[in-house]
Amino acid sequence: MKLNFAKRMSHIKASEIREILKVTEQEDVISFAGGLPAPELFPIDEINQINQIVLKEMGTKALQYTTTEGYPPLREWIAQRMNERLGTTFDKDNILITHGSQQGLDLSGKVFLDEGDIVLCESPTYLAAISAFKAYGCRFIEIPTDEEGMVMNVLEDVLSRNSHIKLIYVIPTFQNPTGKTWSLERRKKLAELSSRYNVAVIEDNPYGELRFEGESLPSIKSFDTAGNILCTGSFSKIFCPGFRIGWIAGDKDIIRKYVLVKQGTDLQCNTIAQMTIAEYLKHYDIDKHIGKIVEVYKKRRDIAIECIRRYFPETIKFTHPEGGLFTWIELPEEISAREILEKSLEKKIAFVPGGSFFPTENKENTFRINYSNMPEDRIEKGLKILGEVIKEYISQ
Ligand code: PMP
Repeated sequence: MKLNFAKRMSHIKASEIREILKVTEQEDVISFAGGLPAPELFPIDEINQINQIVLKEMGTKALQYTTTEGYPPLREWIAQRMNERLGTTFDKDNILITHGSQQGLDLSGKVFLDEGDIVLCESPTYLAAISAFKAYGCRFIEIPTDEEGMVMNVLEDVLSRNSHIKLIYVIPTFQNPTGKTWSLERRKKLAELSSRYNVAVIEDNPYGELRFEGESLPSIKSFDTAGNILCTGSFSKIFCPGFRIGWIAGDKDIIRKYVLVKQGTDLQCNTIAQMTIAEYLKHYDIDKHIGKIVEVYKKRRDIAIECIRRYFPETIKFTHPEGGLFTWIELPEEISAREILEKSLEKKIAFVPGGSFFPTENKENTFRINYSNMPEDRIEKGLKILGEVIKEYISQ
């Protein structure tokens, strides 16, 4: 007999990225596909040493249940860091530790979304945020972006014409998938619109600390006068993703609601992982570590951009990220990146076609390049081959 699954299962599709990532596990594939950090930069020896301290000096605490909110010293560190870097005014009670920032997105769906509600997002946007919100039966309206971020007069127009808008989801710094960063004016304007139309904003920022050049910008949250904006953050890209530790930050009455839904989801995050990170932050200089990551990724970004200029047809467009992990390619409209992927996989080169980053209108002539996970020589080799494949489709 066929089981009677929840209606939401019809909204949940297999992720194309996860399928491509399976291929990239083969050693000889040059992958620009995942958003994986460079594993050679994980601080393994330091973590090993800290783990021993944690187990020896506070083992019973580290292996015990803890509060849903998370380990207080870690929440204190996060609040202080955000205040220094992003212009917020948080203390530890504004912070809930989550299993990666991904869990913050899922919990946001649980807290805010009913079937049929509308989520506004950048076009294109982060694939797994689409999956997380879709599970709650929402609809999406994509708002176009330009070089300064989301286009505010379109956003305002959409806000003024729809009464079911519950959430605006944005990644204003080194966006996934485009690598774009919003200007200061757009940040201020979004905070103002979220207050005027009384809509919650999720400001997702897993890449903000990985800036190669240019000036750091304050968060959208720092301009929030209504208390409508929530920020998600993560240790995945500045430390390592395997710990699965991130956070969501916002006004205390909203964070309390997130704590309630997290209790029903998983009670709390991994205690020993939270304590290990907190102890690492006490004993080591994370800024020095982030500095190393930035140095390596900047070099890889430079090589990737140079190779795109050198080997790809002149008619393509691409972004020039000032930080983060990705650049975004636009091909002429009639060209399908999925077809190019099929050909390039035969030559052991992988990337993610852009179509699935659009929740409503798939633009198949786009794709994302990740440059953080491959050494420079493989980036050059891979993009040269990919350029040759693309040239088979585009007459020069
Ligand atoms: N948000 C964005 C924009 C991402 O690209 C990712 C994944 N790289 C996440 C959230 C989730 O990351 P994590 O759960 O590892 O913090």
